[in-house]
Amino acid sequence: MDIKNVTVLGAGIMGRGIAYASLVGGYTTYLVDVHDDILDSARNDIAHFIEQGIKRGKIHQETRTRFESHFFTSTDFEGMVKDADFVIEAVPEKIDLKLELLRKAESLTQNSTRIVSNTSSLSITELASVLDRPENFAGMHFFNPVPRMKLVEIVRGLETSDETISAVEEVARRMGKETVIIKDSPGFITSRMNALIGNEAFFMLQEGLASAEDIDKALKLGLNHPMGPFELVDLVGLDTRLAVLKYLHKMLGEKYRPAPLLIQYVKAGRLGKKTGRGVYVYPENEEKTHH
Ligand code: NAD
Repeated sequence: MDIKNVTVLGAGIMGRGIAYASLVGGYTTYLVDVHDDILDSARNDIAHFIEQGIKRGKIHQETRTRFESHFFTSTDFEGMVKDADFVIEAVPEKIDLKLELLRKAESLTQNSTRIVSNTSSLSITELASVLDRPENFAGMHFFNPVPRMKLVEIVRGLETSDETISAVEEVARRMGKETVIIKDSPGFITSRMNALIGNEAFFMLQEGLASAEDIDKALKLGLNHPMGPFELVDLVGLDTRLAVLKYLHKMLGEKYRPAPLLIQYVKAGRLGKKTGRGVYVYPENEEKTHH
């Protein structure tokens, strides 16, 4: 099937980035949310992404024209979904909400419509279990910030068909993204690997092997990571990282047992940049300092 239009469910951090990527990909794009003010702010952000993209020579002027004439936002779920060739779900990470909306989207669309979820942790096979056409469903995991991040992880659920995987690959390619394909499993490739590296960093710190600064420096300058594991976890949130590790530990075993120091930091309220203190301290409007 020739995909001409894309509907994105949820206009939050990820949904607006995905809608932008969809416009870059040449698709007529529908963006739906439950709040008009969120849709307004998404529209402003997308306009900004487009101007930035054009200024940097990353995208064509045509994207601006498409944004003006082929981009629609609304809180009318049915109206925005019923003619969709491709639906990308990016609502909050709550399984009941996702199951309800996926089922609703499937019931409103054609048999040929592909539906994907941007979930970062839920099982694609489980999400598909409520659908009549689970073969048309897959995971399409984007990264934040979507306009800048190159990768899309495509997740194959137990019932996902090869045709659906090809359709998702094609959409991602037109959006200018690189893809990897993985079978449905906890943490996919990136979150699983990242959780392990981040956890190991806490074990090293707790054992007193090196300072946080030196562990970060080693990964940046020796292994070419753009950010050190502690800089990254301070950005992501230590509580979020701990939740991911607990889940991986439950699903995949001992290797993922959260480091006691990470648990202590979370208990102490050192959740990262958002609370002003994580592994590092962030005085307001200043650069990080020693912990
Ligand atoms: P967010 O809270 O910023 O956005 C979610 C949006 O969905 C909100 O604007 C909300 O109003 C809207 N929404 C809620 N109920 C709705 C409904 N019934 N219909 C339509 N819209 C509805 O969340 P986010 O960070 O954009 O995350 C969305 C999804 O993407 C989650 O599954 C998350 O796990 C995943 N994800 C997030 C990141 C990230 O870094 N933030 C990265 C990859 C994947």
